[in-house]
Amino acid sequence: MPIYEFRCKDCHRVFSLSYNSYADYEDTNSVCPSCQSTNLSRLIRKVSFMTSEETRMERLADPSRLAGLDENDPRSMGRLMREMASEAGEDLGPEFGEVVDRLEAGESPESIEQSMPLDSLDPPMGGGLG
Ligand SMILES: [Zn+2]
Repeated sequence: MPIYEFRCKDCHRVFSLSYNSYADYEDTNSVCPSCQSTNLSRLIRKVSFMTSEETRMERLADPSRLAGLDENDPRSMGRLMREMASEAGEDLGPEFGEVVDRLEAGESPESIEQSMPLDSLDPPMGGGLG
């Protein structure tokens, strides 16, 4: 279920609305819950390739291990992520695997993030609403 975040251009309140589907979002006239304005701008969050796993990774992570992590060393990050994933016995998805592979190859997280197709978000709502 997609959840979109909006800012009301009239009262500047930020809120999020959930929809059954993207089509539902397109069909729905989204209104500000505070002032009922339809003069909204949709906020696009910066998506990080680790965001969705962040909570899970924190839960898996042994703090003492993280303490030894060199954030500037992609290989050690990749190795740590792979170890945590295998210990959890969970399939974290093909994207996770690709990220780990590329970290272990020495590629910087920034570069990986930029090349991952996670920015394929829809353009912000602009015009059409008034
Ligand atoms: Zn408002």
